[in-house]
Amino acid sequence: MRAVRLYEKGVLRVEEVSPPAPPEPGWASLKVIMAGICGSDIHNFKTGQWITRSPSVAGHEFTGVVTALGAGVENIEVGDMIVADSRFWCGHCGACQLGQNHLCQTLGFIGEACDGCFAELVNLPAKLLHKIPSGLAPQIATMAEPFAVALHVINRLRLMPHEPVLIVGCGPIGGLAAVILAHQHVGPILVVDRNAARAESVAQVTNAQVATLDAEHIKGILQGRKLTAAIDATGSIQALQALLNCVPSGANIALVGISHGKLEFDPNLLVERELALIGCHAFQNEMPAAISLLPACANMIDQLIDREITLDDVPAAYARIAANQVSGLKTLIRI
Ligand SMILES: [Zn+2]
Ligand SMILES: [Zn+2]
Repeated sequence: MRAVRLYEKGVLRVEEVSPPAPPEPGWASLKVIMAGICGSDIHNFKTGQWITRSPSVAGHEFTGVVTALGAGVENIEVGDMIVADSRFWCGHCGACQLGQNHLCQTLGFIGEACDGCFAELVNLPAKLLHKIPSGLAPQIATMAEPFAVALHVINRLRLMPHEPVLIVGCGPIGGLAAVILAHQHVGPILVVDRNAARAESVAQVTNAQVATLDAEHIKGILQGRKLTAAIDATGSIQALQALLNCVPSGANIALVGISHGKLEFDPNLLVERELALIGCHAFQNEMPAAISLLPACANMIDQLIDREITLDDVPAAYARIAANQVSGLKTLIRI
């Protein structure tokens, strides 16, 4: 079968590999229908930070059909259309015992801890698989995993009704956070992106307003209302620095971007202005809620998808995404 495998930092190959063996107890075999390229796939390709096995079929966002079940699997059936929870957690460390399996001491992800979904077929633990609502289009279902990440960020912000929210970064997570807020939050949404076209298209679809990281500009847009919540989905140190300088005192800032570099700042900034920086890692138990939210948000999501490619195009797409040459939210691979 055809598969895209990461060998080491910067080395990604499309090749012919043998299909997975029949599933072990507790696992399922799946035919991949559509997969999505994630910012974390690009980060791992660029830095090699999370490579634990080599080569490994990359990819963790996908829609598939169950083709075979290992012994003891009861949560899904052959023929089911599914999406996957991307996380590999141990289930017995201190964090897992508290239900914080996204903070598991040995947390790994599909595509790194085991072969992933940039292939025609994949075997995965059945406990990670969730059936999707019937009739949900694969290009929408494939967004379930990043949608859960965006939902986790919003849950971590604990927004009050009518609170304005500023989203910095209109990539997949920032864009999907805007979609969720447009669907369920009552209050102004502001979006910022250095790519004006991208900010404009997210703003148009989610009825948000395009802003800049300038306190006066934001004040003008909000007409006297105070900004109290922001999301950094850029992973850019410069953007985060600018955000810290422009939010008013008392603001909560959720951080979800994977950054390169270090932030230098005076801790008194947090103390004297009571700013809260809230780290958001993947998602906790948001996957089922994210899947049930997808049909209602399908129309918005559909307008933000970038383009569809094939497995053979994946290395070129990595280069394009790494060079920031994308306009939509997500590049999808039809398999
Ligand atoms: Zn992802
Ligand atoms: Zn654990």
